[in-house]
Amino acid sequence: MLIDLSNVLSEPHKSLDEMVPCTLEVFKVKFGTYPVLSKDDVHITVEYIKDRQIEIHGSCKLTIEIPCDRCLDAVPTEFNLDFIKKVMVSDSGEEMVESDELDESNYIDGYTLDVDKLICNEVLIGWPTKILCSEDCKGICNVCGQNLNQGTCNCEDTSLDPRMSVIRDVFKNFKEV
Ligand SMILES: [Zn+2]
Ligand SMILES: [Zn+2]
Repeated sequence: MLIDLSNVLSEPHKSLDEMVPCTLEVFKVKFGTYPVLSKDDVHITVEYIKDRQIEIHGSCKLTIEIPCDRCLDAVPTEFNLDFIKKVMVSDSGEEMVESDELDESNYIDGYTLDVDKLICNEVLIGWPTKILCSEDCKGICNVCGQNLNQGTCNCEDTSLDPRMSVIRDVFKNFKEV
């Protein structure tokens, strides 16, 4: 979704306040592609401050499917975005430099604001460092790949309960008799 900023950037610098649809279907970044399960409309306000500086305020709620770090099960993860960006626009309206941060404002091209790109940036900033389907997720067996939340497997487990080895010894002795 693109928003025309020319009314904000030219006299008399009309402020903009709009609800626009978020058209993001997948969230695609260097480290993977994640389906967007649901998204609300984006509330965007843009105000002219002074000297070609504008302030963008945006809020949006979306849910993205991210695999669990341990078992790889899909975990619907909610992002509650609410952000403010201060951006400096050159006279030509072509080059934009963000005053507070050094990251490129890839979401503005000329007088056009690309809402989806802006949202993508914010999702990336808010990306969780750890995703777990539940706090006590057992993960997957690193031998056979069995999801240990759904069942057990027969792989040799080196961390066996010591009480179990006693029982095994009893069986061994029984066989030898
Ligand atoms: Zn898990
Ligand atoms: Zn296994």
